[in-house]
Amino acid sequence: MIPVRPSKIVCVGRNYVAHARELGNDVPATPMLFLKPPSALIGPGQAIVLPSDSRQVEHEAEIGVVIGTRLRDAGEAEAERGIGGFVCVNDVTCRDLQKTDGQWGRAKGYDTFCPVGPELRTGLDWRALEVIGRVNGQERQRAPATDMHFTIPFLVAFISGVMTLEPGDLIATGTPAGVGALADGDVVEVEIPGVGVLSNPVRDGTRR
Ligand code: ZN
Repeated sequence: MIPVRPSKIVCVGRNYVAHARELGNDVPATPMLFLKPPSALIGPGQAIVLPSDSRQVEHEAEIGVVIGTRLRDAGEAEAERGIGGFVCVNDVTCRDLQKTDGQWGRAKGYDTFCPVGPELRTGLDWRALEVIGRVNGQERQRAPATDMHFTIPFLVAFISGVMTLEPGDLIATGTPAGVGALADGDVVEVEIPGVGVLSNPVRDGTRR
């Protein structure tokens, strides 16, 4: 079961200093936005399918913000009030294609590349959130939301100044350091304490 049905999935790149540095980048002066297609969504327990076009598919554990009320050109206070809840997101990425393509649409857009779950949680304070990424039970990523370069209310307000945010829209707020490759047979988890654990198996797309 996919717990959200967004009209769009807006993602933020390079929003944690340590992650930007691990890939040889600086944190941008304004939020770097890109989109994932809703066709990439899968729910808890569903398989992430590795496309044969890529040799380097990586996990990105992220805090997902789900919009509660329509926001257009919102200030930070209105943006914070417009948050409907939080969900775990895995912004699965073909790191090799991300570099060679220049544009990120393909690298981030394959079917199954946006696991979300386990369910939408409401009534949480974003300042208290933390995101953890694990592969086969081993911790790879961990950071509090307060480590983000651009805060969650700032991001929601900024994005609403670019595109109207509709109820149900999903914002993936960036991944902390520790991203790494996935292989056939792995199990990848994204946990936000208080929200839950999103677990997905990984399988090779060439196997039917
Ligand atoms: Zn990401």
